[in-house]
This record gives sequence, C-alpha cells and structure tokens, in this order.
Amino acid sequence: MIKIDKLKKVYLTEEVQTTAINEVSLHIKKGEFVSIMGPSGCGKSTLLNVLGLLDDFNSGSYLFNGKEMAKLKETERSKIRKQNIGFIFQNFNLIDELNVYENIELPLLYNGVKSAERKQKVKEILNRMDISHRAKHFPQQLSGGQQQRVAVARALVTEPKLILADEPTGNLDSKNGNEVMELLTDLHAKGATIIMVTHSAYDASFSQKTIALKDGQILSEKSNKKEVSLS
Ligand code: ADP
Ligand code: MG
Repeated sequence: MIKIDKLKKVYLTEEVQTTAINEVSLHIKKGEFVSIMGPSGCGKSTLLNVLGLLDDFNSGSYLFNGKEMAKLKETERSKIRKQNIGFIFQNFNLIDELNVYENIELPLLYNGVKSAERKQKVKEILNRMDISHRAKHFPQQLSGGQQQRVAVARALVTEPKLILADEPTGNLDSKNGNEVMELLTDLHAKGATIIMVTHSAYDASFSQKTIALKDGQILSEKSNKKEVSLS
C-alpha cells in the first residue's frame, strides 16, 4: 500500500535548513498496523504528514497503491486523501466554526454519505468516544482530551482504508485512551492499514511492528509478534 524510497524532506526557515526526514525507505503492506516511536523533533509528524499527502517532499519516491505521489497536483492529493485516508492530527485541527457533531459529520458529507446513514454513524461514534453530551459544543468549549476524542471520531467515522494517527492518546486518561486503541484495533481487524505515532510502549504493543526514528532516520524496525502460548 505504501512504499517510500530514500524519501527526504527539508524545511527552510529564515536560512535555517532542517532535514526532518533523511532518506527514509519503508514498506507498509495493506492491512498492517505499524507504530512509530522516537524523541521529540525526530521527524515523526513530518513523516506522517508526507504519507498523508498533507505535505510535499524534496527527493526520493513515494508509491501509494503503486502510484507515484511526487509532484502530484493538490486537487489529486485532496481526492486521494478524502477517499482513502483518515488523519488524526497531533494538534486536532478541528474547525472552530463547526460544533462537535458537524466536525464529525464533515468527512461523511465529503464522501457523499446519505443523511440517515450520516446521522447514525455520527451518533454511534459520539457514543463510543463518550462525547455525545458535547455534540452541540464548539471546539473552544472543550477540554484538550475532549477535543482529541472529537479528532479521533472525525478521522475514523468513515472507516478509512488508511489511518494515520499522530499521538492519538497523547491527551487522554487511560480509560479514554483504551477506548481509542480499541476502536483502532477494531478497524484494523476489519482490514484498515494503520500508522500510529506514539510515545506509549503500551499503545505500540497493539501494533504489529514498531519503527524507531532518530534524527529523521530509521534506527530500527521490530516485530511485535505476541508469543503464542501452547498450553
Ligand atoms: P516530531 O513529530 O518527531 O516531534 P516533527 O516532524 O514535528 O518532529 O519535526 C521534525 C523537525 O522538523 C524538527 O526539527 C522541527 O523543528 C522541524 N520542523 C517541523 N515542521 C516544520 C516547519 N513547518 N518549518 C520548519 N521546520 C519544521
Ligand atoms: Mg510530532
């Protein structure tokens, strides 16, 4: 599903050049659940943004479902994003002018889902994320943890084929964090491919593979295969 080769991303700000991703090569198969770990500033969010077609890259190659993503026009990127990708942003990126219900309904509207089905899906995920009582509230009226749950609900309500999650439990207590991990695990079981940035070894243990990043490079890749007990 995802194949990147020697991908490089450089930021240039006021003559300071930062190589956020330094020739990373990676292959993620359809249906895989991968987590990415590493210290702050090592390029985790940048990698996720590039994979999610939210950001360009400087060199190397990115094949998404066999198609090269370099130099793609924004209209095409946006189409691929809407049809395939659910993105949970580290900073939530909720729309301030829309209430919780409307924020979550938006991707369903983009995907042409009919009114009755939209209503049912939003209701379902509001319940699951324990934010039904906040449906009419606006993002600025919510706590950080509640905003994160809305961001998770919005990204997952369409049951996307590819889920990119940037620290999806970072602001949550263990109960809500577990609910998010359960939702991700359910969608994985239904066939979704998931790439999740996390600082939590516990959350990473739900994934099949953990990739450690450092200074924009892959330090290690390890499989999280659970031991099969032969009792
Ligand atoms: P992480 O998510 O692992 O904490 P990031 O991917 O956000 O790290 O950042 C990687 C590096 O790229 C950091 O050195 C950061 O300062 C730099 N960086 C990220 N975004 C930008 C940007 N928009 N402009 C300039 N530098 C950036
Ligand atoms: Mg980050």
